[in-house]
This record gives sequence, structure tokens and C-alpha cells, in this order.
Amino acid sequence: MRTVSLLGSTGSIGTQAVDVLLGQPERFRVVALAAQSSTELLLSQAAQLRPDMVVIGEESLYRTVRQGVPAGTDVLVGTPGLVAAASAADVVLNAVVGFAGLPVTMAALEAGKRLALANKESLIAGAPVVQKARRTPGAEIVPVDSEHCAIHQCLATVDGPTTVARLLLTASGGPFRGWTAAQLATVTVDDALAHPTWRMGPKITIDSSTLMNKGLEVIEASRFFDLPGDRIHVLVHRTSVAHGFALFTDGNVIGQFAPPDMRLPIGYALAYPDRLADRPLLDPLEALGGERGAPMTSLVFQRPDLERFPCLRLAYEALARGGTVPAALSAANEIAVAAFVDNKLRFGEIPDCIESALAGVREEEPTLNAIRAADGAARLAAQRFVDARVTGAQSTT
Ligand code: MG
Repeated sequence: MRTVSLLGSTGSIGTQAVDVLLGQPERFRVVALAAQSSTELLLSQAAQLRPDMVVIGEESLYRTVRQGVPAGTDVLVGTPGLVAAASAADVVLNAVVGFAGLPVTMAALEAGKRLALANKESLIAGAPVVQKARRTPGAEIVPVDSEHCAIHQCLATVDGPTTVARLLLTASGGPFRGWTAAQLATVTVDDALAHPTWRMGPKITIDSSTLMNKGLEVIEASRFFDLPGDRIHVLVHRTSVAHGFALFTDGNVIGQFAPPDMRLPIGYALAYPDRLADRPLLDPLEALGGERGAPMTSLVFQRPDLERFPCLRLAYEALARGGTVPAALSAANEIAVAAFVDNKLRFGEIPDCIESALAGVREEEPTLNAIRAADGAARLAAQRFVDARVTGAQSTT
């Protein structure tokens, strides 16, 4: 029986992880759940999974959670609670959103645990400090993102990156693949939230429509698998059944295929190095389409268009500049996406906003303090860009 801390249990990854865990009561016991503020869902999960402890991010919600959990459950609050939960299990699924996830990653690794990682900031902003903690005996990161999970499987037989020539990550291309610049100028928030293949939260859905999600994944892959950005490539692949490939120095290519369902990478990360046996045997042709997809009859790949989707280019540039620049990229992107969802920026202005915020960033030695400072400065710079746009729009109407 493997114990699991599920941190960030009420988000998209968290709820799909609950699905996986509820299907495997003999294999996993959930010892901790954590959510930022969704008390109702958190309490219903606690009633189902009966963890030893429940963590609520927002302190003001402590009483609500305290009164709602089953008798005997410990209730903890905020970052100290997350850190306690992160060292209490064999496997820690970190699906916490944003910077709050970094202490979870650090605590899990420093306690020598398996970290099933879905929090992006841990490797994009926090990589230099995280890489050190990763060397703790027993500590191990298994990626939850589908593309990194794919590469993890492609590299399963390889000892280190020395024979890996290139990595390929696939991108669905989002809802706007093939759109012209004129069409892209008219994109609405609802258009951007309608993802063709994946079911995800709103921030990551917008990020996949700009290809920033893929850019952030390139940065993560570079950290995860210890390869420079110029050896990590992106191919647009509409149907999302191929997720990643490793090209080896002897010319061989290994790829991973699976239906577009996040429960697969979640189950892989929780069970690794075992494999779950929770899927029906499908017809071989239908296997790759899965429950929601069409049967796979052809595989099509294209190069991404960096001119129409400049966010991907910005991510490669940030990775090449290194230091605190990826942290600034991720922070500025958060502000830009929030402003777009708020109708304060047009779709095409998302990359402009990020680019203007990055122009002022200096490459610094990325200590934890420098990373936090770069994050804060980029948010301010991006917000100034948004405010200038809003003021400009008002004065012209
Ligand atoms: Mg992904």
C-alpha cells in the first residue's frame, strides 16, 4: 500500500487524480488533501477518501473546514500545512497552482519522497533551487504533464542524457491552429477557452491557445531532462495521441502514444515504476482514440508557426537567456492572460505584454530571493502595460 498526499486536490489535475485514486483503493491510501479555497469540494473529497490531514490555503476558511471534516482529521493551514503534508506520504502529487507550489516541491524532495509534479513554477521559476533538492537520497520527480510523462517513458531505458540527440514535444496547436493574423485579431475569451482535445483549467487552456503552454513545457523539459532548448523541438499534432519522442544519437526514435486523457499521466506518476491495470482492453485501432477521440487512422505533424504564435518564441528566448528570465516570463504571462480573460487585453496583445515585461529583466544568478524579485518585477511591468492599454482604449472612445 502506497501513501499519497494530494495537494491541489480541487483543481483540474486534482479532481482527475481523485478519480484515479478512488479506482485503486487496494494500491493507494490518501493521507493528505489540500486546496486553496474550494471548501465544499475539499470536504466532499475528505469524506470519500478519509485522509489523516486536510490543508486549507486560506486561513479565514479554517473554521469551515474544521467543522466539516470527519472526526479525527487534522486540519492545517497555509504554507506550513502544505509543507507538513508534503513530507507525510510516499508519493506527493503537487498540483498546487503558482508559486505556492514551490515549498511543496522543496519539502517533498528534501524529505526524499517521490514527487509527482504538476506545478509548473517549481521547474520554470524555481529550477536552480529545485535541482539541488532533487539530489537528496530517495528523492525523485516523475512528471505529470502528458508530454513530459511521454519523454520520461521514452527515456526509461536510457542512463542519462548523453545518447539523446533531441526531444520532441507535441502540441495540439490549440483552437487557433491555421488561423490567419486577421482571424487571430478577433479571438474572444470564449473562443480561447474552447480547447479541441484536452479538458483543462482556464489558465492552461488560454496558454495552449497562445502556445505559451508549449513554451513553458519546453523550459520544463530542459530542466527535467537536462538538455538545452535548441535540442528540444515542438511539433503541432492536432489529435493529441502522440505526446513526445526521443531521438537518439544512433538515429533511432522512440515515441509515446496514448489517448488525450490526463488520468493516464497522473496514474503513471502515482504508480511508477509499476503500471496500473485500470483500463479496458480496447480494439487496437480504437485504443489511441480513447473514450472521447476518434480511432487513430493517420498521424500528422507540422512545424509550429512562431510568427503567428510569438509566445513560443518568447519562451525559447527566455530559456536561452536563463537565470531569472523564465521566472519573469511565467509571471508576466499570468498577468497578460488574466487581463485577456478580463477583456483588458486583446488576444494578440498577450505576447506584446510579455515581451515588454521581459525587456527590462536582467539575467541574474537565480537564488530564491532573486527569483521572487524577478517574478514581482515582471508582474508590475506587465500590469503597467495592461493599464496603459486600458487608459489608451478609454481615451480613444
Ligand atoms: Mg502538456
